[in-house]
Amino acid sequence: MFVTVETAARTAPATVIVAIDGPSGTGKSSTSKAVAAKLGLSYLDTGAQYRAITWWMLSNGVDIHDAAAVATASEKPVIVSGTDPAAPTIAVDGADAAGPIRTQEVTGAVSAVSAVPEVRARLTELQRSTAAAAERGIVVEGRDIGTTVLPDADLKIFLTASPEARAARRSGELKGKEATDLASTRDALVKRDAADSGRKTSPLAKAGDAVEVDTTELTLEQVIECVVTLIEEKRTA
Ligand code: C5P
Repeated sequence: MFVTVETAARTAPATVIVAIDGPSGTGKSSTSKAVAAKLGLSYLDTGAQYRAITWWMLSNGVDIHDAAAVATASEKPVIVSGTDPAAPTIAVDGADAAGPIRTQEVTGAVSAVSAVPEVRARLTELQRSTAAAAERGIVVEGRDIGTTVLPDADLKIFLTASPEARAARRSGELKGKEATDLASTRDALVKRDAADSGRKTSPLAKAGDAVEVDTTELTLEQVIECVVTLIEEKRTA
C-alpha cells in the first residue's frame, strides 16, 4: 500500500504546542499542569528555570545586581527540568531545587537576574529544545513564551486577573510557609510585574495573536475547561 506524504502528514498524531503567559498569581502553573495532564502533553515551567538560575547565583556569591557578573556566570549552572505534568521537577547541578527556588529571597531576586540578556538567551535555547523534543506536544508557561520563545506556538493564551485576586491566591499558596499579609503580597506582585514588564529583553507581554483570559471571576476548573476547549478547537480546525 502506498501512502502519500500528504496523507501520512494528515494521519500522523498531531503534536500541539501551547504557550501560556501572564503575570504572577493568575493561575498559570495550576492551569498549565492540569491542561497538560488532561491532554497527555508535557509541561514546562520556565519560571522555575529563572528561579533556579537565580538560586544558583545567590548560592555561589554572584552579585545579582551586577549584570556583567550574572552574564558571565550564566553558562555555569546545569539546569534540568522534568516535564511530566503530574510530577514536574527542577534540578540544578544534579540536585533537586524545587524547595529552595520558592523562598522569598529567590522571589525578590529573580526579576533582576531574568532581565540579563545572556540569562534569557541561555534559557530560551533550553526551552526551545525541550519543546522540540516533546513527542505529543507541550504546554509551556512563562512571561515571553508566545512573543519570543515559541512565536509559532499552535495556541497562545495570556492569563490576567486583578491584583487583588492574584494576591489572595498567592497568599493562599504561601499559607503556613512564608505567609505575609495580603497588602504586602499584593505590593510584591505588582513590583515584580512592573520589573518583568519593563525590562528591555523579552518583557512580560501579550502576543498579538494570544487569546486573553481574565481569570478574576473564574474558578480554576473553569479556566482549565476554557483552555482545553481552545486547544481542542485548534486540533480539529
Ligand atoms: O512564574 P514565576 O513567578 O515562578 O516566575 C518567576 C520569575 O521568572 C518572573 O517574575 C520573571 O522575572 C521570570 N520569568 C521570566 N520569563 C519567563 C518566566 C519567568 O522572565 N518566561
